[in-house]
Amino acid sequence: MAALVDQVKGKRQQLAPSAESLDLRAMAAAQYANTDHDTDYGRLIQGQVDHTLFPGRRVRTTAADLETMAADFRENFGGVAETTRFLLGTCPACQRDVTHGDFGVDHIFYYLEGDEDKKPVKVRSIPRIWRGPCAEKRAKQMRKPRVKSRTEKALADEWTSFVNDVNREQGHAVVEEEEAAATPANAATASLWAWLAEALVGAAGAEGKVSFEVTRVDPLAGSDVDARRGAFAVRLRVSYRATTALVTGEPVDAAGSSVVSLSLEPGGAAVAMATEPGGAAALASAPPADGDVLDRCLRKVDLAAKVWAKKGAAAVVFARLGGMREAALRFAAAE
Ligand SMILES: [Zn+2]
Repeated sequence: MAALVDQVKGKRQQLAPSAESLDLRAMAAAQYANTDHDTDYGRLIQGQVDHTLFPGRRVRTTAADLETMAADFRENFGGVAETTRFLLGTCPACQRDVTHGDFGVDHIFYYLEGDEDKKPVKVRSIPRIWRGPCAEKRAKQMRKPRVKSRTEKALADEWTSFVNDVNREQGHAVVEEEEAAATPANAATASLWAWLAEALVGAAGAEGKVSFEVTRVDPLAGSDVDARRGAFAVRLRVSYRATTALVTGEPVDAAGSSVVSLSLEPGGAAVAMATEPGGAAALASAPPADGDVLDRCLRKVDLAAKVWAKKGAAAVVFARLGGMREAALRFAAAE
């Protein structure tokens, strides 16, 4: 299974390294040896490595599974030496051997050989497992709640879901369309998810000449309420309909989706809301026969997705979540 993310510049600006990763980065640079490789546009040299942690998303693996995954990466990355280590079985923070813990993803950045600015032109991602105590510490640094998922997934499966999410956000074909609907970890979570659907489905608004209406919301796995600490970190895929028109009057009807993150720290006064980068839209009506009109329609569709990401999601979605903190705390208290 070719489960890897191999992206070219411009696709994932969200991967700009975070300040929190500075301490880990130096360490990481030494961890991945021999991953430089040749491409059609030149030799790519490994630059910095950024570590991402998904606090509380529990995964487990075995030595045999790790060996299979490493072999997969060695093959799919292409041009890497037989000796390349993918570090799948060690914790990114303390380097200890690990077979279970919190899911993480390392992003390895590459720049073109000879580029003095070392501008990243490509990023490759591989899965990691953070030991529980290291994940806990990192989540605190990141000021993110660490809500442990109810079930522990196989690392390979969690990785496949991650790759599918990325592909979906970029409008690419999904490797394996098998993503089961996320299941709430507890009653408080189930109540909050229902509350979100109630608040958002059907919500509508306009930005400039584009009208939006939310058609469905799907919480992603791990979007649970920590009832004990009164905290949550919900990642919600919001699907919407966008309608607009060409300057020449032809209507343009698009369907899109993007992920928003909604989180509350223990004792937090407000819910932090953000639109995650990525997201895409597609033409939702029959394509016009005229090639030129179609071309302009598709550009409008792209524009609608951009408007949604920049302003629409905040105007349509966030505006309706004023009561989310109180609702979540009420559900947590009833747990
Ligand atoms: Zn560790």
